[in-house]
Amino acid sequence: HHHLGHATPQAVEVLVETGKIHPEAVLWQHLDEYRREGGYELLRGCREGQVTADELTSMLERAGLRGLGGAGFPTHRKWQSVRAEPGPRWCAVNADEGEPGTFKDRYYLERAPHQMLEGALVACWAVEAEGVYIYLRDEYPGVHRVLIEAIEELEDAGIAQPGQLILRRGAGAYICGEESAMIESLEGKPGKPRHRPPLVAHKGLFGRPTLVNNVETLYWIPVLWREGVAMYAGQGRRERSGLRSFSLSGRVRRPGVYLAPAGISLRELVDEYGGGMAPGHQLAGYLPGGASGGILPAAKADIALDFDTLQAEGCFIGSAAVIVLSDQDDLRAVATNLLAFFADESCGQCTPCRVGSEKMLSLLERDQWVVEDLERLSRVMQDASICGLGQAAPNPVLSLLRHFRDDLGRHDIIVTDTAEGAC
Ligand code: SF4
Repeated sequence: HHHLGHATPQAVEVLVETGKIHPEAVLWQHLDEYRREGGYELLRGCREGQVTADELTSMLERAGLRGLGGAGFPTHRKWQSVRAEPGPRWCAVNADEGEPGTFKDRYYLERAPHQMLEGALVACWAVEAEGVYIYLRDEYPGVHRVLIEAIEELEDAGIAQPGQLILRRGAGAYICGEESAMIESLEGKPGKPRHRPPLVAHKGLFGRPTLVNNVETLYWIPVLWREGVAMYAGQGRRERSGLRSFSLSGRVRRPGVYLAPAGISLRELVDEYGGGMAPGHQLAGYLPGGASGGILPAAKADIALDFDTLQAEGCFIGSAAVIVLSDQDDLRAVATNLLAFFADESCGQCTPCRVGSEKMLSLLERDQWVVEDLERLSRVMQDASICGLGQAAPNPVLSLLRHFRDDLGRHDIIVTDTAEGAC
């Protein structure tokens, strides 16, 4: 299904009309087609000396492009710091997209693989890397075939050297979306996150400086160059700037990937893009950032879906996977399900996460939720876990306790503030 045409900003419609965002799910844009529309012109400009690496990083800075995989780190700073390290360097594309509710990278890769690949080759050129590893989640066999063919097209056309674009498949582990675990996995080892420092920008793949970018970040680069930064930065609501790809799912009439102005609220996203709530459903709450971003109530449906605003509510936008919940959803079941997911996906390397997520799950399965126990365990997991998985695992529970205290009572959960040695 094609949803981007519903986007109101004119620039977005231009992107769809000119085929830069492909309208047909089953058709992907082949090399000749992409080149007819100006594809790989930026890469050519870079290689032939018409574009400098500084011009590129300055463009990224003016666009305000931040990592779109979840951490939100400014893209230009990442590029600069990898470039400043001694070679050899590597690039890696994070196409693991394992956050529950996120499917935007798949959407873009199925339609316009060359746009991401051009962004990747431009990044590779800009940081003078040896090559680009693409780490694709194994659950996307269709995308895998598309990328194999697209890379072949590039090698046949002499645009990529054989071996410059290296496609690797994950093996179904959520944790491999964490960049250092992804790098471990690319090296052929079990996907366990590394301690930081060092950052992967300094010591990443094979111990070398590594630029890790998310699919969508790279996808935007050729468009920003062709259309100009104003096209991107000129969008936005509530004094935010830019566009964001939301993966919208749950109790909405039209779930899908929507390119919408940064700073849009949940209510606007559902009404203007998602066609409203699914028939017979009343908005009860939503997950703004997949499994790890916490849960917000309907009363918070008018705040900006952005990093800082959500953080103030104890939630995270992450990769902008918005899951809409209704009066027919059992919030306790949602939180318990998410904790079961984290307990399952924990790599087991550190105790606060391995034992903590199991313990949290068992506390949630009791009839009585003891707030003090839940909060204490959450703090340990947040403070002492090595990586984002263990740190974010308590989010569903903490946000339920913070925003849905009254509802919990209605859902037959007795919430008490004092512990009785249960933990
Ligand atoms: Fe592994 Fe969890 Fe520790 Fe991350 S927090 S390193 S997933 S055990």
